Amino acid sequence: TEAIDLRRPELTIDLAALRHNAAVARQVAKGRKLLAAVKADAYGHGMATVARALRDRVDGFMVATLGEGEALRLAGITQRVLVLQGVMSQAEARRAARRFLEPVFHHASQIDAVGTVGFGLPLTAWLKLDTGMHRVGFTPEEFAQAYARLSALRGVRPNPNVLTHFACADEPDRAPTDDQITLFKQTTTECSGETSLCNSAGLLAYPHAGGDWVRPGIMLYGGNPFITGTAADWDLKPVMTLTTQLIAVREVQAGERVGYGGKFTAPATMPVGVVSIGYGDGYPRHAPNGTPIVVNGQRSQVIGRVSMDLVTVDLRGIQAQVGDTVQCWGDQLPIDEVAQAAGTISYELMCQMSGRVTRRVV
Ligand code: PLP
Repeated sequence: TEAIDLRRPELTIDLAALRHNAAVARQVAKGRKLLAAVKADAYGHGMATVARALRDRVDGFMVATLGEGEALRLAGITQRVLVLQGVMSQAEARRAARRFLEPVFHHASQIDAVGTVGFGLPLTAWLKLDTGMHRVGFTPEEFAQAYARLSALRGVRPNPNVLTHFACADEPDRAPTDDQITLFKQTTTECSGETSLCNSAGLLAYPHAGGDWVRPGIMLYGGNPFITGTAADWDLKPVMTLTTQLIAVREVQAGERVGYGGKFTAPATMPVGVVSIGYGDGYPRHAPNGTPIVVNGQRSQVIGRVSMDLVTVDLRGIQAQVGDTVQCWGDQLPIDEVAQAAGTISYELMCQMSGRVTRRVV
């Protein structure tokens, strides 16, 4: 229709790929239950859409904030929902209890704030054990006391569940993660609640980590959970594809410079394509000369600086004309390659798509 701006970038969310990736996670989880990470609008894919598509493939969901948990309930999700940042007051604890959300307690101030009052049905709570990330969570030394205090609260079910998070499971050196697994097991021997250790990288590379629940995020969206290799090595399929259009083709003379700051100089007379996308859409501004991009099905590269609404591309040796489709990442170009070129990670690219981009769910 006229309302659809045909030249603007479009994000296609492939739910079949999402469900496929969840099936891969289910298989490697080997009987452990799946909590799908859908925080940050499901890594930019649309939280309600993703959660509804996954509800028959996973056992629960994980969000960062109470508000995200409430949004999942409003979207009709009835499964278990773990809230990573937990609650900071009695009012928040009451909100969590009303919606059957499961807050994580990672700091003594949260236990203090919730206090000794009840909230109707007691909360199912999780305790965060810091085994090496040193960001949030109780240290192994603090753990027994925090566990006992949380267990004793009237508003909380006794014997809370326990989780930890890996700092380095995506890296080749296995020692830090092995140490975290050992410390978790040693510290939680007396705990009778459920346990959870693994993110995507932990799930794939540390099958001995155990736990009742695993918490995959990036692998569900088809991003590579590791800093080496590719997502395809694990049979993961890209869920998000970002496309747009070529809106101009021009010739630039030898020695002429392209774009803000003249960061690319044409070594010879050459065709340059102008693509309708920029950092105003969430395309990474720091993508340098050479960042891969697919023009009319052929691999090309970004030249010159990314601007708010436009990216310039090298059309040497490429068959292309105005109106052709350009894929920034997705089923023809792994998002990890673009992320690596731009000095970031797939997670950030997924999360930073702007509201200007049209979304299509298939
Ligand atoms: N568990 C926790 C505590 C997290 O913060 C995250 C994401 O940041 C995940 C699991 C999922 O991690 P990934 O997307 O690497 O699988």
